[in-house]
Amino acid sequence: MRSVPSDLYGPNVIEVNGAAMLLTTTGGGVAVHLTAAVDEPGSGRGAVLDFNFDSDRNDRAGTLADYDRAALTEPRWSQTTLCGRVWAIMVGGDGGTIGRSGEVAFAPTCRRCLAILDRHFPRPIPDDRLTLVAQLAADAVVDQRGFAEIHDVPGDQLDELRRTVRALIRKRTGTPVRTHVINGVVYVECPAIHHQRRDEGMREAVEAVDAFLKGERAPRRDQDWVTSWSTWGVT
Ligand SMILES: [Zn+2]
Repeated sequence: MRSVPSDLYGPNVIEVNGAAMLLTTTGGGVAVHLTAAVDEPGSGRGAVLDFNFDSDRNDRAGTLADYDRAALTEPRWSQTTLCGRVWAIMVGGDGGTIGRSGEVAFAPTCRRCLAILDRHFPRPIPDDRLTLVAQLAADAVVDQRGFAEIHDVPGDQLDELRRTVRALIRKRTGTPVRTHVINGVVYVECPAIHHQRRDEGMREAVEAVDAFLKGERAPRRDQDWVTSWSTWGVT
């Protein structure tokens, strides 16, 4: 997993109890399958092939331009989907469509993959406050700065919280959104909104994001982009 955000998107994955699962297609149908990482790094196959980047450049300029070539071609994925099929290619995600099918997906649809997922990786029960905290963070991103931080999130709620925040923001804006977890803090960023705000002259927000991208702590003013899980505890 990338710990330093870049402008390029990595593999289109969902996280299940901390494990990345790649969204894949067999090429023939519309089903979106899940593919797990291999145990031995380097012994699997890439989410896409080098070929896809090369051929893409020739006939459909820009389609893969928003993806990180090194990350997508890293041989880390199993040869088969969870449901046992040989897969063709990763399904497009935040970086846009891949190949001619033009499909973008953010969740699996194959019922067998989902059933296997449930059996092996039961989802933790969502905490009561998850929806509220996700909503507050989504509001901060969409209405204010284009980014937000969420502090004090329990480990077993991280994946579901990130998923929920991304879904809320996508539903409201239709723009790509990314989440990262660094030292226990969830960072949510929506570059399109952030750039728009920057153009509107929010220097403060720009400084905070720039500091974050350089690995420094953001200069804190009123911290209205920070939501803390522990603030919203229900006793
Ligand atoms: Zn499947």
